[in-house]
Amino acid sequence: MRLQAYRGSILHFLGDPGEDDAASAFEYFADGLLVVADGHISKLGSAAEMLPSLDPACTIADYRGKLILPGFIDGHVHFVQTDVIGSYGRRLLEWLERYTFPAERAFANPEHARQVADYFVTELLRNGTTTALVMGSVHATSAEAVFRAAQARGMRLIAGKVMMDRNCPEDLRDTAATGYAESKALIERWHGKGRLQYAITPRFAPTSTPEQLEAAARLAAEHPDAYIHTHLAENEEEVAWVRELFPGYRSYLDVYDGYRLLRRRAMFAHSVWLDDRDRARLAESGAAVAHCPTCNLVMGSGLFDLAAATRAGVHVALGTDVGGGTSFCLLRVLDEVYKVAQLRRYTVSPLRAYYLATLGAARALDLDAHIGNFRPGREADFIVLDPAATPLLARRTAGARTLTDRLFLLTTLGDDRVVAHTYVLGRLIHTR
Ligand SMILES: [Zn+2]
Repeated sequence: MRLQAYRGSILHFLGDPGEDDAASAFEYFADGLLVVADGHISKLGSAAEMLPSLDPACTIADYRGKLILPGFIDGHVHFVQTDVIGSYGRRLLEWLERYTFPAERAFANPEHARQVADYFVTELLRNGTTTALVMGSVHATSAEAVFRAAQARGMRLIAGKVMMDRNCPEDLRDTAATGYAESKALIERWHGKGRLQYAITPRFAPTSTPEQLEAAARLAAEHPDAYIHTHLAENEEEVAWVRELFPGYRSYLDVYDGYRLLRRRAMFAHSVWLDDRDRARLAESGAAVAHCPTCNLVMGSGLFDLAAATRAGVHVALGTDVGGGTSFCLLRVLDEVYKVAQLRRYTVSPLRAYYLATLGAARALDLDAHIGNFRPGREADFIVLDPAATPLLARRTAGARTLTDRLFLLTTLGDDRVVAHTYVLGRLIHTR
């Protein structure tokens, strides 16, 4: 058995700390020890208590002065948009036409897909993200490429090829039949292979015909433990468009519901423009939403209502939504989560923010039996953050008195520079 210990400040969550930072929801060890055996968490506790009885065969990596956290989980990201991040595009539908579709066209070429997938996965790990729910392009080769890149690094990753057969360029369309057949072949090849899982991925309701949504529903019924990944109610123009395309449905969510796409392991990115009935239905179905504030702000799409989602009991993950989103780093997302909530007169405490990026996302994705915290037996995906990574952070952290203050500084001032090390299944895979 390969045994390795990591010493430093350690934080992880056992539950949702809610609005009052419930003490039972997290464990924090100012000087802690995390013991990993064969890629899985073995023990966690204070260094003073654990060191005397530590197995002499166990070596210790000394990260005192740094913060050890479970790896971040990105609940919604497009790897095929890596090369359009930061494009100037105003509103969503214009952005799709001007940047997204041309970029996605290039993924018909498997060599291009391989190169971008490699870069993308490296970039996730460099930013402290150890698991992501990834949207490909319409090409099966895109999903193949990102699965291979994750597999080569032992990463836990969920991905799928996009299904879209209308309202997009002709050469980027599949059909109800080919979308079904290609997705099914990918499920058979990749779903449940090691740490990889498949997401049935209709891009969003406007780019699928009713026949294709029906095909997606059939796939979902045939593969009840596969994921479903799509967009929902990102901005108001899109919501109005869906109303025109699908008359007779009560709401945008109701369209997906009508096609039996609401269930546990279904992820709806954005979900900004919902009402209470939608939220109640999401909660009841066990589906999750991905809050993607960097994208929502840059596109002027709207302010996600985290308070309402929380009240309704909806599972919430956070997404970078690269390339619409403006950073690969969940720390940048946490900063915007806080600000969007502020504008809605709701406060997200730093502890709750880190919960959402780790265990909260794992729960939303039904992966909390495997990842998200440091309970014994969990897969050892973790990150080591350096609170003194920049001169300003070092200066401010030195004067920060509480854990809350230090966590908040990392989100307001931090980015990929803060991620000192990333571990996947106990293996060091990135060092800054
Ligand atoms: Zn998206």
